[in-house]
Amino acid sequence: MSCPAPRYITPILILLLAVGGHATAAAPASGTDAAIDEGRALLRELIEIDTTPGHGSTTRAAEAMAAHFRSAGFPAQDVEVVGSAARKGNLLVRLRGRGERAPILLMAHLDVVAALREDWNVDPFKLTERDGYFYGRGTLDVKGGAAGLVGALLRLHRDGIKPRGDYILALTAGEEDGVDNGIEWLLQHRPDAMRVAYALNVDGGGPEIRHGKAAVLSVETAEKVYLSYSVTARHPGGHSSLPGAGNPVYRLAAGLHRLADLQFPLRSNPTTRAYFGALADLHDGQLAEDMRAVARNEENPEALSRLAASSLYNNAQLRTTCVPTLLSGGHAENALPQQARATINCRLLPDEPFDEVDQRLRSALADPELELRRIAEPTPSPAGRRDEQLFTRIEAVAAEIWGPIPARAYMSAGATDAVYLRALGTPVYVFSGIAYDVDDDRSHGQDERILVASYDQSLEFLYRLLKSL
Ligand SMILES: [Zn+2]
Repeated sequence: MSCPAPRYITPILILLLAVGGHATAAAPASGTDAAIDEGRALLRELIEIDTTPGHGSTTRAAEAMAAHFRSAGFPAQDVEVVGSAARKGNLLVRLRGRGERAPILLMAHLDVVAALREDWNVDPFKLTERDGYFYGRGTLDVKGGAAGLVGALLRLHRDGIKPRGDYILALTAGEEDGVDNGIEWLLQHRPDAMRVAYALNVDGGGPEIRHGKAAVLSVETAEKVYLSYSVTARHPGGHSSLPGAGNPVYRLAAGLHRLADLQFPLRSNPTTRAYFGALADLHDGQLAEDMRAVARNEENPEALSRLAASSLYNNAQLRTTCVPTLLSGGHAENALPQQARATINCRLLPDEPFDEVDQRLRSALADPELELRRIAEPTPSPAGRRDEQLFTRIEAVAAEIWGPIPARAYMSAGATDAVYLRALGTPVYVFSGIAYDVDDDRSHGQDERILVASYDQSLEFLYRLLKSL
């Protein structure tokens, strides 16, 4: 595949290029060479430990990272692997500070979505460097961020830096499938470690690369609500040599075919309006005008439609979405199916009434014999607020790495473990520091990747940011 080199050149990158690469040259800033080597090694280690829900183990990954903290000299009581199940361990590390501020929680999940070798062009469980990218399951979601946090804390410790207050690192299990979720477990069993001023979560956010350069550092302060349904068609079945009416596979397929046309209404909320208002300055022409119209909350359905049609990302910002993701049915090759079932995964705008989604799905399926059920009750996800002091600090550190780019609050179309903390009133700010192209987001998909240069920059960014908070 063709992978163009990033067209954005940063002060650090210029320096690296000027001296011929980090491995052979004098360090551009104290500790940077070693930090990049260490950060890449940590990423490789995490990628190459299978942490998928099926046969993986987050405990192995947590123990591997714990070993680095222990050998760096962190006290034994400050490095723990804890959790509810043998393969679902969570790492909890405390870097002690000067006690001048409340602790800050640093969070990332260790588990990754399943990946089939035959679907990928590279081995998903090996870190492969190719054409300026690191490929591997979890590079973007979210072992890149987890490795960056580990690297930053190790470096702070090594440099003898005592932050103003404690950092508590939680690398956790069960984010992707919701089973044995580590943050839920820690909130229940280790509330002491979860009493924090706020949390920084690397499971999303920016910087975002637009028009080839890191243009905006998006910080997620709100996210859509996750809600999955099952749709089931049933029939008494029988011998496959005697087919008749009511085959549940046909029935389900017809319902899903109708569902394909379901589009939820387009609308904005305060977070997305502020976001598009800021983003408009980076675009021109009709797109910029449409963003401004949406930001002003104008009665302008054409602007909303054009903006939604301009990218999948913008579409997901402006409406609730539902899509079939799993399909199963039948019990034998030579029997009429007795059951066919689909899973429909919905992502709701934070203020979307749950009952309304039920109703829209029912009327789109348009078959009273198709059973529609919520698989689990959704956790409401109230939108958070922008913390001016923190955003100013983020912008100042970002400017050292990428030049002046604005930090903007945004709503994620996905869901993260932030939901558990926000539900309890703890603010969570989600950003990774790994600059990525929003139109090349391969998290959960095949050939997941991050730019090597972006990853290296994120190591420096996280280190400097944590040093300064
Ligand atoms: Zn994730």
